[in-house]
Amino acid sequence: MLLHIDEDTIIELAVLVGGENAGKIMKNLLKKPGITDEELSRILQLDIKEVRKFLHKLNEQGILHYELAREKETGHRIFKWYVSQEQVTGFIITNTKKILERLEERLEYEKKHQFYWCETRGCRKLAFEEALNNLFKCPICGKLLQPIDNEDTIKAIEMKIAEIRKHLEQISKVKKVAEEPLVKEKVKAAKHKK
Ligand SMILES: [Zn+2]
Repeated sequence: MLLHIDEDTIIELAVLVGGENAGKIMKNLLKKPGITDEELSRILQLDIKEVRKFLHKLNEQGILHYELAREKETGHRIFKWYVSQEQVTGFIITNTKKILERLEERLEYEKKHQFYWCETRGCRKLAFEEALNNLFKCPICGKLLQPIDNEDTIKAIEMKIAEIRKHLEQISKVKKVAEEPLVKEKVKAAKHKK
């Protein structure tokens, strides 16, 4: 079980790191922990070299780790791949915090500034200083700029921030609970990295 971060978020993370195919690989890894590169290649109908390239890319980011095993009959080496739960959670928390920071900056900016707009669709809003520099005429269409009410924008940002904060709290709580049994796995993973 992969904590309580929904699988879509984890797949999105993989896509972000390695593109669409990395996302497909992640989807299969979540379904079947310990899946091998051969199996992935067969399921996704991707060249094994391609599959390995994506696996290693995700491994470099610490999102995946592998266990080395040997096939009983042939003695061939097999790589079994797993999602590194704690790492994934950490990654998502860090990224969510970054988004939160950006939104808070945006909120601060919206609260501090008066905006102006020519009311022409496709033309952008201008902050007071910029509107002043353009003598309150739109730099694109030339129409007179009118002050606009950004109450709605502020409310929308505030709602989004509250939503993200709640989400972040939930992830952090689950992470704490999950850290205990994960220690063992982490040691195992570290050993295989060497
Ligand atoms: Zn305009």
